Amino acid sequence: MRIAAMLATMLLAGWTTAAMGAAPYHLIPGAVPLDSGPDGNTIVLDAPKGLIVFDTGRHPEHAQAIIDYAKARHRPIAAVVNSHWHLDHTTGNWDIRQAYPHVQVYASGALEGALATFLKNSRVQIATMLADPKTPAAVRDQLERGVAVIDNPDRIRPNHIVAKSGPMTIAGRRLEVHLAKFAATEGDVWIYDPKTRVLLSGDLVVGLVPFMDTACAEGWSKALDSIAAVPFRTLIPGHGPVMTRADFLTWRNAYNAFVDCGHSTADKKACVAGWMKDAAEFIDSDHRDYVSEAADYYLTTRLRSSPDEQQRYCKPLKAS
Ligand SMILES: [Zn+2]
Repeated sequence: MRIAAMLATMLLAGWTTAAMGAAPYHLIPGAVPLDSGPDGNTIVLDAPKGLIVFDTGRHPEHAQAIIDYAKARHRPIAAVVNSHWHLDHTTGNWDIRQAYPHVQVYASGALEGALATFLKNSRVQIATMLADPKTPAAVRDQLERGVAVIDNPDRIRPNHIVAKSGPMTIAGRRLEVHLAKFAATEGDVWIYDPKTRVLLSGDLVVGLVPFMDTACAEGWSKALDSIAAVPFRTLIPGHGPVMTRADFLTWRNAYNAFVDCGHSTADKKACVAGWMKDAAEFIDSDHRDYVSEAADYYLTTRLRSSPDEQQRYCKPLKAS
């Protein structure tokens, strides 16, 4: 009877399975559709003051799934942590801020440089696409959502800057928060929880293919070394299914081999084939063509571009 009463109290307080140790996190998987941009994975952690949401996705449906989960748990979203500024991880900040005006948003300061450069250029490209009547309606919605946050960056901007690695108390919960500089972006935040040995990597680890649009290849490799040095058992990547430590080590080898191949004189096709083989366990059959095209694109634009271009994201982004 007493246990039943205790359970009822915990359920009312929202302290369900997560607090009882059965599931130390809740994953809302990000979709990677073939006809529009991806959503990053969202991971929800319990904290004394409410829920901590790690990454908020791009599409409204993804943001709504996060809010629906919080409502079902009867717990407020107290904090958002963004792994990096890419819009497939931050656009939902606005939806969450509207539903939970007191939410505290944590991220690196890398958004500012991106707004002055990469996102400014994206804004020009988006305007061209929106002006083209051939742009399909579904893509148009996504583009307009992108424009809305680029034009109103306060919607996604952090109000707490993660400037260094170290323990941090977020929504009353102590976590090891790490900052990787000049990796997938100018500042990538990843989290390790020593109690549960769960690591949230953001896009430093991505199931299908490393999204290298704003990557410093060498810095990224160093960030993977820092992740490997932590005794995690479970790693939740920025996109794709949950990984074991062995999965991560396979992925890291595949990443390093891809970058080495990109910097060698090997045929580009051989580098793409190398990625498809080394990372085969992280690529589902529906996404094989998508991954192979993306790998080819990143080889051309990031690993085989001019030395200056290759180093573009290895230093702070500044408007030219
Ligand atoms: Zn992503």
